[in-house]
This record gives sequence, C-alpha cells and structure tokens, in this order.
Amino acid sequence: MKTIDLRSDTVTLPTPSMREAIYRAELGDDVFGEDPTTNRLERMAAERMGKEAAMLVVSGTMGNLVCLLTQCQRGEEAILGDKSHTFLYEAGGMSALGGIHPHTVRNQPDGTMQLTDIEAAIRGDNVHFPRTRLLCLENTHNRCGGSALTPEYTDAAAALAKDRGIWVHLDGARIFNAAAALGVDVKELTRNVDSLIFCLSKGLSAPVGSVVCGSRDFITEARRVRKVLGGGMRQCGIIAAAGITALEQMVDRIAEDHANARRLAEGIARIPGLAINREGTQTNIIYFEPVDEQLTAKTLVKELGEKGIKLLQIGPSRIRAVTHYGITAEDIDLTLAALGKKMQKS
Ligand SMILES: *Cc1c(COP(=O)(O)O)cnc(C)c1O
Repeated sequence: MKTIDLRSDTVTLPTPSMREAIYRAELGDDVFGEDPTTNRLERMAAERMGKEAAMLVVSGTMGNLVCLLTQCQRGEEAILGDKSHTFLYEAGGMSALGGIHPHTVRNQPDGTMQLTDIEAAIRGDNVHFPRTRLLCLENTHNRCGGSALTPEYTDAAAALAKDRGIWVHLDGARIFNAAAALGVDVKELTRNVDSLIFCLSKGLSAPVGSVVCGSRDFITEARRVRKVLGGGMRQCGIIAAAGITALEQMVDRIAEDHANARRLAEGIARIPGLAINREGTQTNIIYFEPVDEQLTAKTLVKELGEKGIKLLQIGPSRIRAVTHYGITAEDIDLTLAALGKKMQKS
C-alpha cells in the first residue's frame, strides 16, 4: 500500500543529490571553525538572508532558544504570539533554561499581532516590571494556517520595536514558503529583523538542521550559547552538505507544494461535512475539520491512516495537512477521493 504522509513537511527524506553531497562532503572540526562544508553553508545562508553571519544548529527549536538566550537575560521579557511555535511547542525552553518571561500577544488569524497590541505589551521603565527586550515574529505562521507575514507588516513591527529600543527575532522556520507565496525575495522579509532562524529539514527536505542568522557580533555570542546547550558539533559538514543542496535545489520548487495545498483545500471545501477556513491556504499548511458530530477528527484521522493517508490531529476537532516534496497532485486527488468516500459513509 502506498503511503501519503501529510502530517508534516518534516517527514521529507534527503534527495539522492543530498545523499551524494553528504558522501562527498569535505569535513573538519567545526568547534574549531574548521569544517569547510559548514562554513560554506553558513556563508550561503547569511548571504541569502542579507545578514553578516550565520550558524548551523541542530533544530529550529534550538535555533529559537539560542536567539532568545543571546538576547534576553534572566527575568527579562520577550513578546511573542499566543499561537506562536515558540510559545506552544518548544517545551517552555525560554523559561526553563533562560528564565525569560514570555509575554503573549494575541495572534490574528493571519499570523500577525496587531501593532497596537504589541505597543501595549512593551513595558515602561518601572521597578515593578520585567524589562522588555525582544519581539518575536513567526513567518510563515504554523498555527495560523501557514499564513505569510508581508514585508510591509514585518517592517512596521520592526520599526515599532526599534523605536522602543527592543530587538526583533524572526522564527522563519518556513521563510522560503512565505517568500514564494508573496513573490518577494526572502531578504525583503528579513531586512529589519535582528536575528532569525530558518529550517533546512522541513520543505527544503534536508535530514537535519536549521540556521541562525544575524550580525557578526550576534553570531559570535550565539556560538557561546549554542556550546552551553551542547550544540557544538564536530564534523557537522555531514549535515551542512545536505543543507547546501537544499538551498541550491529545493527553494525554487516550493511553489509546487503551495499549488498542491490549494488543490487539497479546494477539494475539501467541496466535500459535504468538512469545514475549511480558505483564508488560510496561502502556503503548504491547511487545517480542516469535520462538522458533523457523528464523526470526530480522531476517527477520521485513524480511518484514513488505515488507508495509508496520514494526517495530523491538532486539538480535539482540527486536522492538519502539510504538502511537501514527494507529494504529487495525484496524491492529493487520492486523498480527496478517500475523504469524500469516508464522508459519504458517515
Ligand atoms: C518546526 C518549527 C520550529 C521548530 O523546528 P524543529 O526543527 O522541529 O525544532 C520552529 N518554528 C516553527 C514555526 C516551526 O514550524
């Protein structure tokens, strides 16, 4: 039986050319700064993002944590969305390891936070308050339907932060999806942030790794924090090699994933008994839900799973599907047929 795995774009496996690049990678000890392949990936990533320097990390979670720990001291505060990945899904690392106080602001359905809400969250100088140090944005926004923040919004939020003397971090796990959806160069989405991460291991299909980008001084400090977290790697050119191939070969095909997500969303909208918020289908993530009480999200996910179609249940009623490398238009049609059949029976 064929498996169509729509749970996440993290399930993508390295491409044949990545395996080839891994095999041939020139290696050294990266903790001494001597891994030529890692150095090359970091130069490429910094250049792509329009920043001075970059650093390979194990995961997006580690990347966000390194950035937060580099920018905030214990007892200081970071403003972030109440549906942000860092707040919801990173095991509370900012508080657990950094003593950083999270100040959540409500995420709008499009993944933004209203500027007036951000402004209200920034603390004044008062002995009662923690110091606000950092504003965190997320692009694309995972829990908000994979929505893309525009350059205009990002610039406006960054200008507000700058005006109030706080830094801006961008969780750009899927920043290339945002750039593809908006038809802009990725630099337009990063130009005014102080630090950012992006993932190599999601839609770009590399097996492991994320990259932190920022100023030279920021990355120098971040290297120390990465070491504290046990993230100093030795011959990590093994994973950087796949990351280079990802940047060279996998960025331009992302639009295909978006077309497939749209196809899936449009098909689901036509199936009686399923509800989908169409506003959210901008990139490769969609959320939908069964509306009739007879059939729960759990049952639907389980029964499609038995047919080899894997979806992810999020919360009691919602289902997530993510398109990625290896998912074809035909897979989408098979998924829609299976969903249609299931809904007819229920
Ligand atoms: C996946 C994801 C991360 C974390 O990446 P991992 O490599 O899974 O740790 C961070 N932010 C967002 C928005 C994500 O979707």
